[in-house]
Amino acid sequence: MLLESLGAGTGVYGAFQSYAARGLVLGRVAFAHRDRYRLITELEELEAEPSGALWFRSPDASAMPVVGDWVAARVVGPGQALVEAVLPRRTFFSRRAAGKREQEQALAANIDLVFLVCALDGDFSLRRLERYLTLAAESGASPVVVLNKADLCADPAGRIRQTAAVARDAPVLATSTLGGASMERLRDFLAPGRTVALLGSSGVGKSSIANALLGEECQATAEVRAEDGKGRHTTTHRQLLAVPGGGALIDTPGLRELQLWAGAESVDETFDEIAAAGAACRFRNCSHCGEPGCAVREALDEGMISADRWQSYQKLRSEAQWHERLTEPLRAHEYKRWVKSVHKAQRKARKK
Ligand code: GDP
Ligand code: ZN
Repeated sequence: MLLESLGAGTGVYGAFQSYAARGLVLGRVAFAHRDRYRLITELEELEAEPSGALWFRSPDASAMPVVGDWVAARVVGPGQALVEAVLPRRTFFSRRAAGKREQEQALAANIDLVFLVCALDGDFSLRRLERYLTLAAESGASPVVVLNKADLCADPAGRIRQTAAVARDAPVLATSTLGGASMERLRDFLAPGRTVALLGSSGVGKSSIANALLGEECQATAEVRAEDGKGRHTTTHRQLLAVPGGGALIDTPGLRELQLWAGAESVDETFDEIAAAGAACRFRNCSHCGEPGCAVREALDEGMISADRWQSYQKLRSEAQWHERLTEPLRAHEYKRWVKSVHKAQRKARKK
């Protein structure tokens, strides 16, 4: 019952079947810090670590459990378990790992709906929202745009109109955690079996929204003991919480400051008017940088595409292409070209 309310449906139970036969239990990751996890299972909560087999079989760090993952775990002692397998993810947020090497870092999994929280104070930015919308498109989760701190804004309706033009099909709501009916309207998006995550810069009101949706007691009991970097025990907040009326809410620090890890296709989804115009360019691989017969240039000149949108499109698009180049294996024709260039260099060297 509990797991169903948290989103375990036929897909999850189907994927878990073969593990059930081996005596493993189904759990959902409510907290993850390095290789320590907290699992919610039907009967109890478990402290868990990855099994040796999981370490061994994982192709890279992004395959290890993250908040929101459904896992198969082996109970090895009172309240203790080893995670043997991560079940297939439906949706998946990730970002560039810190450091020089570009590596994908998983942040949270199996999110149905994501509240993209912006604040209607001085820091409001449509450009940042475009970034969040692109991330949501990449993850597979459906976005809801939440314009919080509406009480600080003289013209929330105007902001909603502006935002709706950028948000496309995503619902846009103005909210305030200080009072009024807006939290009720936000609560309407929660439902048994559904997982909602909060995404947005620090200070926009995510914790306040979580408290309003969950009730204060829920947060107060949500503490987890974890080890900090120096091996000391500290208390941190759980990152996945059961919603009183059913469903799950994810609020993890990892989702709070995101760099773009998205493909060019997700950028196109966010800027669909530019992608649509581009389909009419004379050349299929048109870069919209001065080629003849460029429909995007034409749309820009006619004011069908705004200069602001065009600028953020170019920026996000080149970021996305940069990641794709670094992470995709070479395509066949690129490989052939590369072999050719190596042969050529070798011939040159031999001649000398
Ligand atoms: P988080 O960093 O996104 O989790 O933001 P918090 O929930 O911690 O909120 C940051 C600050 O904004 C706190 O001082 C809150 O009291 C305040 N705050 C949150 N929601 C609202 C709101 O709707 N209106 C106003 N005026 N302040 C808010
Ligand atoms: Zn073009």
